[in-house]
Amino acid sequence: MTNPYGWLDKSLDAIHRAHWYRSVKPIAGKPGAVVELAGQPVVNFASNDYLGLAGDPRLIEAAVAATQAYGTGSTGSRLLSGHKALHRELEIAIANLKQTEDALVFSSGYLANLGTVSALVGARDLILGDQYNHSSLKKGAILSGATAIDYLHNDLADLRAKLSVNRSLYRRCLITTDSVFSMDGDLCPLPGLLQLADHYDCMVLVDEAHGTGVLGSTGAGCVEHFGCSGTPLIQMGTLSKALGSLGGYVAGSSQLIDFLRNRASTWIYTTGLSPADTAAALAAIQVVQTEPERRECLWQRVSQLKEKISQIPQVQQGTWKLLPTESPIVCLQMQSPAVVLDVSQQLATQGIYAPAIRPPTVPTSRIRISVMATHQPKQIEQLVAGLRSIDSGDAVEG
Ligand SMILES: *Cc1c(COP(=O)(O)O)cnc(C)c1O
Repeated sequence: MTNPYGWLDKSLDAIHRAHWYRSVKPIAGKPGAVVELAGQPVVNFASNDYLGLAGDPRLIEAAVAATQAYGTGSTGSRLLSGHKALHRELEIAIANLKQTEDALVFSSGYLANLGTVSALVGARDLILGDQYNHSSLKKGAILSGATAIDYLHNDLADLRAKLSVNRSLYRRCLITTDSVFSMDGDLCPLPGLLQLADHYDCMVLVDEAHGTGVLGSTGAGCVEHFGCSGTPLIQMGTLSKALGSLGGYVAGSSQLIDFLRNRASTWIYTTGLSPADTAAALAAIQVVQTEPERRECLWQRVSQLKEKISQIPQVQQGTWKLLPTESPIVCLQMQSPAVVLDVSQQLATQGIYAPAIRPPTVPTSRIRISVMATHQPKQIEQLVAGLRSIDSGDAVEG
């Protein structure tokens, strides 16, 4: 007798042997700089809640009020029964933050990328994407049926070379990039990308998942940071990171948004965002626009961490490599998956939660630290002290 599911066990064994196995850990209580992990309070360096808004009383209140007024579910797709004035209010607020003509809210950032990429290009078209792009951009490219070619990470010369060879063979071309690379912390070279796009007649989609609320003087993101607001561009992002809610969006020209409302299958055929998520995101955008001090505080903590981390002996000796970063994401690259797992576990015993990120998510293993505006300076000190105390003898054997 053969078992058609027998391969699952073998596959899981292989994942274990490679130290690639992952599992979930429950976090109790509200999100914040300190959370309860497996019953222990830990300083949280694993969150995308950069401004500390996911547990903010104003967002909670907005979500509760919207639930009481409109119920828990949207009950249908936006084109049928699921559209509320609240959705439109949020879209106008996003367009205002991004300085674009319009915006469209999706049920997640992942769905926004799948739907947008597959609506904009098809079998006769070309996608050039950064090799480190988020999974949702890569899967969107496959779904679109376009020819998808990766260019080397942040390498404009490689992109230019690939455009000059391939561009004329296709109808439309879409260049896709994360604005902040989520597992590294560096930024895309946006002005250079836009110049190339202009020269080769390409559209550009920039994924601001980790830029929105964090970068730029008003928190509009990497596009604002580089002074590129107002340029024809497709700006995509999520409501689930610095905005502390759930959902995704695309911001751009009114024609782009009108087209997506008619052609993006992941928007048309899915249930509208819940009233609670919509209202929380709307409240978050208000905070982003009226409390720039949160961003200032965040950048102070980031500088403190970068300065202190660069003085750690393992970093100075080159055993650990501090990856280049211009964001609140700070990564320490280490020798192997086993080493990062061990370091992450040693930090956990000291009350610090900094996750190990391993292949296949990234090509090389690293400890990924994300800083929040609500971290106290002494919590940053605690992390650095924890890293300094790592017994690398154990780690190397691990
Ligand atoms: C998190 C993330 C997404 C997906 O957003 P969700 O709203 O969580 O689905 C897309 N792109 C990037 C770069 C991300 O980091």
